[in-house]
Amino acid sequence: MAFATGININCLLLFYHVLCTELITCEVVSLFRAELPFSAASLCDPIKARSNQLNAQQRYVEYQRLVAEQSKSINKNLILDRKLYRQLMLQTEAGANALPLDTLDRQYNRLINEMLYIYNGATICGYQQPFACNLRYIPDLKEIMAKSRDWDELQHTWLEYHRKAGREMRDGYEQLVDVMNEVAYVNNVTNAGEYWYLPYESGNFRQDVDIVWEQIRPLYDGLHAYVRRKLREYYGPERINRIAPLPSHILGNMYAQSWSNILDIIIPYPGKKLVDITPRMLEQGYTPLLMFQLAEEFFTSINMSAVGPEFYQNSIFEQPVDRRAFCEPSAWDFCNRHDFRVKVCADINQKSMISVHHEMAHIQYFLQYRHLPKVFRNGANPAFHQAIGDAVGLSVSTPKHFQTLGLLQRSVDESSYDINYLFSMAIDKVAFLPFALSLDNWRYDILSGNANKHMMNCHYWNLREKYSGIKPPVLRSEKDFDPGAKYHVPANIPYVK
Ligand SMILES: [Zn+2]
Repeated sequence: MAFATGININCLLLFYHVLCTELITCEVVSLFRAELPFSAASLCDPIKARSNQLNAQQRYVEYQRLVAEQSKSINKNLILDRKLYRQLMLQTEAGANALPLDTLDRQYNRLINEMLYIYNGATICGYQQPFACNLRYIPDLKEIMAKSRDWDELQHTWLEYHRKAGREMRDGYEQLVDVMNEVAYVNNVTNAGEYWYLPYESGNFRQDVDIVWEQIRPLYDGLHAYVRRKLREYYGPERINRIAPLPSHILGNMYAQSWSNILDIIIPYPGKKLVDITPRMLEQGYTPLLMFQLAEEFFTSINMSAVGPEFYQNSIFEQPVDRRAFCEPSAWDFCNRHDFRVKVCADINQKSMISVHHEMAHIQYFLQYRHLPKVFRNGANPAFHQAIGDAVGLSVSTPKHFQTLGLLQRSVDESSYDINYLFSMAIDKVAFLPFALSLDNWRYDILSGNANKHMMNCHYWNLREKYSGIKPPVLRSEKDFDPGAKYHVPANIPYVK
């Protein structure tokens, strides 16, 4: 009996697999094109291009629902093969697509679209410039938060942005919490908080992460204390208290998630050189194409796969001259085992060099699992892809590797140089961890009902203080909705990854 079922299920899986590969390729093609808004295809007929995209998405949703239904109806107790069992279990998870179609469109998708509309449309007036009122997060406000050293200007920018981008979507988010609980229900999960961490396949994900965090915490505490002292010297003791949390608006970033932009204020050894390969890259005539070839070589040199000519033909390496592409660096798997692409608008500088290697690590991961059934062609968990990309990014950005590439002079063996380098890494990487942790633990608590919906903003700042030692610039209330000012909240995208 089990044997016969195994054969039938295998046939079924093969059929799904072929269909799925085709559907996904169509969907990915349409999404890839959608991010090139003025590509030749959509110029000819933009309405048709948009409707193709919607059709592809719709067909994929229908397919996913069907597969989930069918997979659910199979009695999995009869299946002895662990791989087969896992394949079927993964296929039963349709996520939000498992909602009744009406709820999916009219509630789930609508709420997210409305919140994103508020987020994307948020504009504020400049500090003491009541007539310059068209400032957007990108590029204007991000730049002010990074470069301004004027306490009042920073506070104005932070407050106004959080008023516009956060506060207005509070209602929408409260509704989304209910819909997310419906998503959890149709996926057979107790509540939306559990559902949020489900892909990590741990019964105690929140505790697991807290245990890891406790190991890193002493380093963060030291970093925080040091930065607070430096900022106290810079802004004065009347503004920075020796023992209080740090106000979030003076750390060089709207969300205080990275402190790299205030390196000039907090650098341990001012005047000592920092690792910077940009001048040599320019001198040596680097191009975006060369950077990608170099990254490919990084992988082939450790016996991994080459990306093949199709990658170079189809990818986008720089901002096209004739149109504006959406330039957030991304890597794409077209799910047909041969078409892999990146979309990056690379500049010739150190930051881009690391980002190019990071994206190529995603491509390498795609290449390594391309022979598996579709349902296994994904990161081992939602964090795994980024972890691989970042690990490669870190390994590339060491002074030693840059020296090997002939992009950095052999440094004098000086500890001040090393400390400046390590410090600049820490204020980006270590400072980020408690931010990500508080944002997603906040969502877990709200979604699972651990924290009251009427105390959403207060709970957010409690967690920000607990994990990061960061406080808002001024007192907040429950009229505010500060987490909403971070893209991943209205977009409903998980962050701990
Ligand atoms: Zn990435």
